[in-house]
Amino acid sequence: MAIIRIILCLIGAHTVADTIYGWVHKPPEKEEAVVQVVSLPAQNDEIAFEEHDITLMAVGDNLLHMGIVNAGKQSDGSRNYDFLFDGIGAFLEKADIKIINQETIFGGNELDFHGYPKFNSPTEAGDAIAGAGFNVVLQATNHTADQGMSGMENCIDFWKTHPEVLVTGIHEPLTEETYKNRIPLLKVGDDTFAILNYTYGANGESISSSIKDRMNMLCDVDESNGRIDFETLNKQVLLDISEAKTLADIVIVCPHWGTEYSTTPSSTQEKFAMQMTEAGADIIIGTHPHVVQPVKWIEATNGNRALCYYSLGNYVSTQKNGQSMLEGMAWITFHVTKDGISVSEDQTGIIPLVCHYTSNPTRFKQVYLLENYTEELASSHGIISYGGISFHLDDCLKWSDEILGDWVLSADEVLSP
Ligand SMILES: [Zn+2]
Repeated sequence: MAIIRIILCLIGAHTVADTIYGWVHKPPEKEEAVVQVVSLPAQNDEIAFEEHDITLMAVGDNLLHMGIVNAGKQSDGSRNYDFLFDGIGAFLEKADIKIINQETIFGGNELDFHGYPKFNSPTEAGDAIAGAGFNVVLQATNHTADQGMSGMENCIDFWKTHPEVLVTGIHEPLTEETYKNRIPLLKVGDDTFAILNYTYGANGESISSSIKDRMNMLCDVDESNGRIDFETLNKQVLLDISEAKTLADIVIVCPHWGTEYSTTPSSTQEKFAMQMTEAGADIIIGTHPHVVQPVKWIEATNGNRALCYYSLGNYVSTQKNGQSMLEGMAWITFHVTKDGISVSEDQTGIIPLVCHYTSNPTRFKQVYLLENYTEELASSHGIISYGGISFHLDDCLKWSDEILGDWVLSADEVLSP
């Protein structure tokens, strides 16, 4: 027994000595060993890993004037807005991430429907957005508070009926606990996209704290009196981008910003875009000016880079400005390799669209691809019936060329396999 005990003791001592030796004197080997263990499945993955693309499409302001609201009324009194997306069905089918800027609020059908200036839109149009396959809705705009707090709360509640849609820009007031989970994330396969949405304001010089608690502000707000400083980026935007960077592979920031009817970005847009890029935004998709603005790579001095669509223009409207009928659909292709994810410049750009309506009270007809639009359609566009407005295909082509330039993609480039 004594011999056995000595042997066991020696074995034990030997084992302990080795362990101590290995731990104290050979940490590099031990670390290396850990890395090897981790890299083994990774190497297997490497063989199995298939490079692939993730595609994103985004359209601009879904601006539901009464001519569009009325167009959705059915003979039995019900409402259906599926037709709003007939012109872009093939793209919705192909893209993985599908974003729309919902300019107006779904404030509750019981508040009745309103057009400009204090919109309230039928929730059936929200159902149509979800039904068409959009999986991201931007809801922070200057019209978010058109129906006050009850409209905002009803809109937040409405979107709970579509849990398949990521709604960004508005939310219940954040608590200490929910603040930690405030970054909206969309997972596509193994890749995670953070999609942040902010508005410059809500059609006023100031904003109440109860609205601010539910809507993401792009600009700085003086806490003491609610006044908005339209020239200064809200620090929260930069905090959110930093936080998003730790949670997501790609950070997309969607600001509602800029000068209405201006086809060039303002100096404030340029300044904010640079600050967002420095903070780590990978993609910036802007809305609000009602016209398209250029697409540009923003290069920050710290080496960060972001692809910025300054403005997509509207998606639908019955506005009276000819240039507002030309719209853009962002199309971004991300290429995923085992080393990471990046924007593939081949199939990334913008597809020009034309919003077409008639002169009937139920005005809306369809959103067309500019490449399929004709002078015959242009000559029947309802915008002409407002009087004093000419509208021609050649103008649309010229604006597209001048503003969007080489970024223009054709349907074939995007849809062909
Ligand atoms: Zn707007």
